[in-house]
Amino acid sequence: MPIYEYECTDCQHTFEAMQKMTDAPLEECPACHQKSLKKLISAAGFRLKGSGWYATDFKNSGKVDKTATPPCATGTCPAACGSE
Ligand SMILES: [Zn+2]
Repeated sequence: MPIYEYECTDCQHTFEAMQKMTDAPLEECPACHQKSLKKLISAAGFRLKGSGWYATDFKNSGKVDKTATPPCATGTCPAACGSE
């Protein structure tokens, strides 16, 4: 089941909601109860599962410029750091 990310345009509250594709989008903000939610284009569901994220990381790792700072040193690639 996909996870959708919503942001309230009134109070900037953001949250993730697990919904069926066929469910109607949420409208009411759980924080301020205004009907000000907008659905964000988000890969939240894939990020939580990890699969898409890891695949991307491995593809990129082969093309890294050797003179550049390794991604591991920047703390942006926890996946690769554990395996090297
Ligand atoms: Zn709100």
